[in-house]
Amino acid sequence: MKNKIVLITGASAGIGYACAEEFAEKGANLILFARREDKIKELAKNLEEKYNIKTIAYQCDVRNFDEVSKIISNLPEELKNIDVLINNAGKALGLSKIQDGLLSDWEEMIDTNIKGLLYMSKCVLPGMIERNTGDVINIGSIAGNEVYPNGNVYCGTKSAVHMISKSMNVDLNGTGIRVTNIAPGLVETEFSEVRFHGDQDKAKTVYLGYKALEGKDVAQIAVFCCQLPKHVTIQNLVVTPSAQATTTLVHKVL
Ligand code: NAP
Repeated sequence: MKNKIVLITGASAGIGYACAEEFAEKGANLILFARREDKIKELAKNLEEKYNIKTIAYQCDVRNFDEVSKIISNLPEELKNIDVLINNAGKALGLSKIQDGLLSDWEEMIDTNIKGLLYMSKCVLPGMIERNTGDVINIGSIAGNEVYPNGNVYCGTKSAVHMISKSMNVDLNGTGIRVTNIAPGLVETEFSEVRFHGDQDKAKTVYLGYKALEGKDVAQIAVFCCQLPKHVTIQNLVVTPSAQATTTLVHKVL
């Protein structure tokens, strides 16, 4: 990973933040995207000092194609040849029956989880194809493999991430680019706080009674996938806490 250039979306919290830390530790240079600029600027500065790497942080909403495209076209010379794209920015909003879901939640999940991933990929892939090398890590979810009650639209978006990842491996076959869909189960991050629109007490109950995954666990898997020999691709990887068997079966001791 030393001197590789890694772009991470959603680096201000959770899995994306942990990816920044793990890739930096391996000596990679970082391009960090998120909407909360203060968080990624501070993270970039700390990692640059700690690991003597190059970093740059951009306030960017992945739902905005013009914003994404402008940033990617104007990257500084020393960071423009992206080796690894981590499409991590994403979210679940709400947990209600399909007939009760909020339109605004649906739009935001679809725009971030699906369209944001596509916008990023559209802008970054041409350079990778030209250089005949690259890794794309799409952070999907176990919810893309199996649904759970009230997960409806979120599950749909992550199922799309799964299928888009498969399609990417088909369309990019022979280009030297590897695409991996990492599908985590329960990870303790800001995810549930976002899902419950800022209700921290409700969010905490999701992680009670068992040891959830940490962002770091997923980040280490992302590093592992990118460090494999070039002839090896992990196309799809499901990772859960050991207490979790399916989306709905979690052994809790309360
Ligand atoms: P998190 O702690 O809430 O982090 C989400 C990140 O996405 C934040 O950095 C957030 O930054 C960024 N983000 C959200 N909307 C964005 C936008 N429009 N443009 C740019 N960045 C945006 O959640 P997480 O658990 O780390 O989630 C990361 C990914 O893992 C998501 O795709 C999620 O679906 C997936 N996942 C999570 C779990 C879990 O249990 N936690 C399980 C399976 C899959 P800003 O708010 O600063 O923009």
